[in-house]
Amino acid sequence: MARVYNFSAGPAMLPEAVLKQAAEEMLDWQGSGMSVMEMSHRGKEFVSIAARAEQTLRELMGIPENYKVLFLQGGATGQFAAIPMNLLRGRKAADYINTGSWSKKAIKEAKAYCDVNVAAASPDDVLTIPPRESWKLAGDAAYVHYTPNETISGVEFHWVPEVDAPLVADMSSTILSRPVDVSKYGLIYAGAQKNIGPAGITLVIVRDDLIGETLPGTPSIWDYQAMAEADSMSNTPPTYAWYIAGLVFQWIKDQGGLEAMATLNRRKAEKLYQAIDGSDFYSNPVDPNCRSWMNVPFVLADDALDDTFLAEARQAGLTTLKGHRSVGGMRASIYNAMPEAGVDRLVEFMAEFERRNG
Ligand SMILES: *Cc1c(COP(=O)(O)O)cnc(C)c1O
Repeated sequence: MARVYNFSAGPAMLPEAVLKQAAEEMLDWQGSGMSVMEMSHRGKEFVSIAARAEQTLRELMGIPENYKVLFLQGGATGQFAAIPMNLLRGRKAADYINTGSWSKKAIKEAKAYCDVNVAAASPDDVLTIPPRESWKLAGDAAYVHYTPNETISGVEFHWVPEVDAPLVADMSSTILSRPVDVSKYGLIYAGAQKNIGPAGITLVIVRDDLIGETLPGTPSIWDYQAMAEADSMSNTPPTYAWYIAGLVFQWIKDQGGLEAMATLNRRKAEKLYQAIDGSDFYSNPVDPNCRSWMNVPFVLADDALDDTFLAEARQAGLTTLKGHRSVGGMRASIYNAMPEAGVDRLVEFMAEFERRNG
């Protein structure tokens, strides 16, 4: 059976080399006589797997010493609540930038804990990012939250906002796609199932001076300080997902790290946008200045052909191209693990489909 090029937005493709290694180690992890799934999270084998994953990530992203790296559960959605619980630190307000669906969900959840000041919002009718000069930040905000890559609409920041309050970023669908200067952020978080590993683990990278003062009533598993002190093991962590994330970090390192990923991701995205822009049959609605490298939505000129497009793509080994139910059309998610050959194959298929139907 041949593996397909899977353009799912998440859970998404994993590098084949990682899956092969996991398969080899499935029954017996490095002579331990057991699968990683069967290990105690307190045993020396798993503790070494966990520490190695963190160390590799620190090297990849250049995470400074004064940042904690936490491996949590509850997804990015859990963090929508955990962030105000931990970062308000006695303040009442937080700034949020609304650039799309995931920003809106973060805002909605935060409203239960603080006064949300929506400092800027994308217009309803244009997929773009409001320029920094237009943001109306609150003077007393505990932090500024934004979504560097909106997974559904394919709107991505290609710049880091300069703000005074700690900057908080939901990097679920862009983390590890390019280098980032972690020191510009108070907190970075990401659900794993897009660019890190399997679903079930959530990464939080947080500056250590921001933690330790939670909102009264904060559950202990959402307390960053408590989790940091327990090496993310206040309770049983998602051990297998953590292990696979570690293999993915090592794979990225073997590919040449985040610079190499960025070069490849830029090239993959450019190929796809060129194919879309170069035809009257396909179009992408996003402002060219903020088009995502990771999630590329596109529509057909005639949406009556959508189902045929998807069915024939599936036949050609190109799957999960259906757009999000809220926007329709198509969406190709081309995270780190999508080989360039997958994008080439998609571009060829699109040209051929246009020839037959255009
Ligand atoms: C997928 C996604 C989420 C939700 O992640 P869960 O792990 O399902 O909670 C949040 N934000 C962004 C930007 C996403 O892409």
